[in-house]
Amino acid sequence: LIFDDFSENSASFPRNEFADHLIEWFRDQSRDLPWRNTDDPYAIWISEIMLQQTRVETVIPYYQAWMQRFPDVSTLAQASEEDVLTQWQGLGYYRRARFILRAAKMIEHDFGGSLPSTRKELKQLPGIGSYTSGAIAAFAFHEPEPAVDGNVLRVMARVFADDSDIAKASTRTSYEKAVVELIPPDRAALFNEALIELGATVCTPTSPSCLLCPVREFCESHRQGIQETLPIKKNRTKVRDEVRFAWLLNDETGQFLVGQRPSDALLGGLWEYPLLETEPKSAANGVMEAEELGSVRHIFSHIRRTIHLHQVQLEDSESAIISRIEEQYADIRWLSPGEEDSLPLSTMMQKMLRVVREAE
Ligand code: SF4
Repeated sequence: LIFDDFSENSASFPRNEFADHLIEWFRDQSRDLPWRNTDDPYAIWISEIMLQQTRVETVIPYYQAWMQRFPDVSTLAQASEEDVLTQWQGLGYYRRARFILRAAKMIEHDFGGSLPSTRKELKQLPGIGSYTSGAIAAFAFHEPEPAVDGNVLRVMARVFADDSDIAKASTRTSYEKAVVELIPPDRAALFNEALIELGATVCTPTSPSCLLCPVREFCESHRQGIQETLPIKKNRTKVRDEVRFAWLLNDETGQFLVGQRPSDALLGGLWEYPLLETEPKSAANGVMEAEELGSVRHIFSHIRRTIHLHQVQLEDSESAIISRIEEQYADIRWLSPGEEDSLPLSTMMQKMLRVVREAE
């Protein structure tokens, strides 16, 4: 309830001391990450998008390679979607890469080539939501804006012993308002970064290291011994199982067929062996012969997918199944072995390729 009227209800909270302890700890202990040594808004934007739902260690080499390949907004705005997806390959959640490209074009055309500095304008760009707009405004432009990610939600819930459901948008909004009140106006970037770092390294989801915590003396849940029961997060998305069949089709020259996923679909723009719900065993689909090579599993945010890979021989190349694949994919191509390496492939496709190469 403290967040219902944070100004009033936290009047006795020692804001300055809290910020001083936190920032001092951050200056001493924080990890040296490549995007922390810059206040280039472009570099911060790219790092923040890459870090969404992705571990820091995974992001570092991608970030460095990206900044070499696309060092500024205008270089990026001129790139093709295929180039951008290839550079992103393996990071997952590919929508992020397509949003970055669209946003770069908008920045070039509508904002004179520079990222806007206000949260409101930043939010107009594709892929930039509440957290990322706050992070860019605070880290790059030193605006007293909140950058509330999952780490900060957890720290705030624990420091103030609040049992609101952090999966709710209304909880995030009230925490953002509270963070704005806690930000020392002259140290917006440091304060926000320190809160995030505290959640990432000390106030971790399980077994928070309270003994090492720089704000332990201000933490209500630690005082009550309830820190491990917070935050409350009610899970609304159920994971569902899905089975698909990968049809490995070769033509008479040894080329094989791949399809490009439609850009508005999950993993849009990426190439893969044609995946169908139909098992390739029925003569009705023009299948002469099918041999199962193995299977792979892949988990997306809400889908647990099992794919069975079949080497399939069709009765004729005009088969109805090819038309079905053409309908399902934005584009199809026949590739010679090795050519797939120049296309943006999903992690799922890379797993399938490993199975096929092992079977050869
Ligand atoms: Fe988190 Fe423990 Fe620090 Fe409280 S004292 S903020 S629960 S690490």
